[in-house]
Amino acid sequence: MYLYNSATHKKEPFVTHTPGRVEMYTCGPTVYHFAHIGNLRSYIMEDVLEKFLRYEGYEVNRVMNITDVGHLASDADTGEDKMLKGAKRENKTVMDIARFYTDAFFDDCAKLNIKTPEVVQPATGLIDEFIQVVSGLIDKGYAYEAGGNVYFDTSKLERYYVFNDHDEEDLAVGVREGVEEDVNKRSKNDFVLWFTKSKFEDQALKWDSPWGVGYPGWHIECSCISMKFNGEWLDLHCGGVDNAFPHHTNEIAQSEAYLGHPWCKQWFHVHHLNTNSGKMSKSKGEFLTVSLLEEKGYDPLAYRFFCLQSHYRKGLVFSWENLDNAAGAYGKLIRRIAALTGTDGPVDEEAAKQLKEKFLTQVGNDLNTSMGVTCLYDVLKAPVNDVTKRSVLASFDQVLSLSLLERAAVLREKEAAQAKTAAAPGGFTIQGEGDPAIDALVLQRMEAKKAKNFAEADRIRDELKAQGIEVTDVPGGAVWKRV
Ligand SMILES: [Zn+2]
Repeated sequence: MYLYNSATHKKEPFVTHTPGRVEMYTCGPTVYHFAHIGNLRSYIMEDVLEKFLRYEGYEVNRVMNITDVGHLASDADTGEDKMLKGAKRENKTVMDIARFYTDAFFDDCAKLNIKTPEVVQPATGLIDEFIQVVSGLIDKGYAYEAGGNVYFDTSKLERYYVFNDHDEEDLAVGVREGVEEDVNKRSKNDFVLWFTKSKFEDQALKWDSPWGVGYPGWHIECSCISMKFNGEWLDLHCGGVDNAFPHHTNEIAQSEAYLGHPWCKQWFHVHHLNTNSGKMSKSKGEFLTVSLLEEKGYDPLAYRFFCLQSHYRKGLVFSWENLDNAAGAYGKLIRRIAALTGTDGPVDEEAAKQLKEKFLTQVGNDLNTSMGVTCLYDVLKAPVNDVTKRSVLASFDQVLSLSLLERAAVLREKEAAQAKTAAAPGGFTIQGEGDPAIDALVLQRMEAKKAKNFAEADRIRDELKAQGIEVTDVPGGAVWKRV
């Protein structure tokens, strides 16, 4: 596939260090609160990327951290500790908060058909490794102790800003904004690897270290967790675009300094979900969660569909009206799929191959998910039988994960249950899904039975069975359903 690489600012052919295998890392959630649907947009797009790579035939080892320590309110190591803030808000311990919101995150992911990565590692479970890497960075001259904390020395790098072409002053605003300068830092871009002294006297989680009792900075966890579970050569690192600086920039700094060679080849950044008043965030009162969508009667997969309709490198504007439009289109799509019969002959392998090739090319062009959705409609319009359509749709859904056939089956069952009892000639009633051709066969069978022509009645039953229809006799008529 071709993928835009934030590190080179170019769309490039996707390549991996080991042919056929992708080492993939995703920055996981900071588990101090529910994820809002803007956060989840990133995870949806990363999920599609992973599944597309698998669809192309790659083996993927995907690793994700869970931040349960060290992430301060500002990504530039200042402000309140997010976990502590969550614990205070709910009057619980930090670990209780971590456990609760980790479970909540994966519940949301499940509702959105987001696969759980092969490795999910909470930061607090790997403190010894962090200490080892921080020690290594000090030994190699890339880190220093000051005021009781350990800092990464960005002046030792040939190039610190890897994602942006802007000058340093522009970028440094992000670091300085609303934040007092840390006097221990030798330069403003240096960042904390290990805290022993911070302004939080009541930091809940602390560990012993060569530099005193303390806790790790946020950035070090991703480098360490990835190096442990992905190895030294990372193929693909994902995250929201707001993590590019300083978080990912710092990850690269410390990983390459520690390893002594280039670390991650491709960087995939998903852009923001915006509301009409700007970027969605937890602090702005527009705190939209998956549960809230459900409470309002939306299928979470309608939100996934909404996300897939636009490109991951463009900001997406959320409004209830936009979600309504997506939910309506998703519902219509499911309705059309539900109308496909599963029994009109064999799969046309040649036609299926051509449709799949088009899907691979379209979605493989920088993960163009909206073209992937268009491919679904192309399948529905294609001059092939329904069995082929269903087979190809199921295949594309391995990537898009919209539960297309499952939702269609649910819809069919619902409609079957609601189907009116049709009055048939001869005083019989036939209850089914409102298909006149099937109704007619069921009626013929009942008439054959009435005439004691049991061989003919059995023949028709077999014919219906071959079409996937099961008939049950009831007093005064019959009920049929697709099985
Ligand atoms: Zn990270």
